[in-house]
Amino acid sequence: MYADPIDEAAARSEQMIAVALANRTKPQMVFTGDCHWCEEPISSGHFCSPECREDHERMVRAEQQRKLS
Ligand SMILES: [Zn+2]
Repeated sequence: MYADPIDEAAARSEQMIAVALANRTKPQMVFTGDCHWCEEPISSGHFCSPECREDHERMVRAEQQRKLS
Protein backbone atom coordinates (compact mmCIF):
# COMPACT_ATOMS: atom_id res chain seq x y z
CA MET A 1 0.00 0.00 0.00
CA TYR A 2 2.82 2.38 0.85
CA ALA A 3 5.67 2.63 -1.63
CA ASP A 4 7.87 4.53 0.78
CA PRO A 5 8.63 2.96 4.19
CA ILE A 6 8.94 6.44 5.72
CA ASP A 7 5.40 7.30 4.58
CA GLU A 8 4.18 4.06 6.11
CA ALA A 9 5.81 4.86 9.45
CA ALA A 10 4.30 8.35 9.42
CA ALA A 11 0.85 6.97 8.66
CA ARG A 12 1.25 4.45 11.48
CA SER A 13 2.20 7.05 14.06
CA GLU A 14 -0.69 9.25 12.93
CA GLN A 15 -2.98 6.29 13.51
CA MET A 16 -1.48 5.76 16.97
CA ILE A 17 -2.07 9.40 17.88
CA ALA A 18 -5.68 9.17 16.68
CA VAL A 19 -6.25 6.08 18.83
CA ALA A 20 -4.63 7.74 21.83
CA LEU A 21 -6.88 10.78 21.44
CA ALA A 22 -9.98 8.62 21.12
CA ASN A 23 -9.07 6.83 24.32
CA ARG A 24 -8.54 10.05 26.21
CA THR A 25 -12.12 10.07 27.53
CA LYS A 26 -10.81 9.89 31.09
CA PRO A 27 -8.13 12.39 31.95
CA GLN A 28 -5.03 10.92 33.48
CA MET A 29 -5.39 11.61 37.15
CA VAL A 30 -2.46 11.86 39.48
CA PHE A 31 -2.58 10.98 43.14
CA THR A 32 -2.52 14.25 45.04
CA GLY A 33 -3.51 13.02 48.52
CA ASP A 34 -6.78 14.93 48.20
CA CYS A 35 -10.16 13.99 46.81
CA HIS A 36 -10.36 15.39 43.27
CA TRP A 37 -13.89 16.58 43.95
CA CYS A 38 -14.16 17.92 47.50
CA GLU A 39 -10.43 18.07 48.35
CA GLU A 40 -10.85 15.89 51.40
CA PRO A 41 -7.48 14.34 52.37
CA ILE A 42 -7.29 10.68 51.26
CA SER A 43 -4.61 8.01 51.49
CA SER A 44 -5.19 6.35 48.10
CA GLY A 45 -7.12 6.68 44.86
CA HIS A 46 -8.60 9.92 43.59
CA PHE A 47 -11.85 10.30 45.52
CA CYS A 48 -12.89 10.04 49.16
CA SER A 49 -16.22 8.41 48.30
CA PRO A 50 -18.16 6.90 45.38
CA GLU A 51 -20.44 9.96 45.52
CA CYS A 52 -17.51 12.27 44.85
CA ARG A 53 -16.41 10.07 41.97
CA GLU A 54 -19.90 10.19 40.46
CA ASP A 55 -20.19 13.95 40.88
CA HIS A 56 -16.77 14.42 39.31
CA GLU A 57 -17.58 12.13 36.37
CA ARG A 58 -20.86 13.95 35.83
CA MET A 59 -19.00 17.26 35.75
CA VAL A 60 -16.41 15.91 33.30
CA ARG A 61 -19.19 14.59 31.06
CA ALA A 62 -21.05 17.92 31.20
CA GLU A 63 -17.83 19.71 30.26
CA GLN A 64 -17.31 17.43 27.29
CA GLN A 65 -20.88 18.09 26.14
CA ARG A 66 -20.20 21.81 26.32
CA LYS A 67 -17.08 21.48 24.19
CA LEU A 68 -18.91 19.43 21.57
CA SER A 69 -21.83 21.79 21.15
ZN1 LIG B 1 -14.58 13.84 48.22
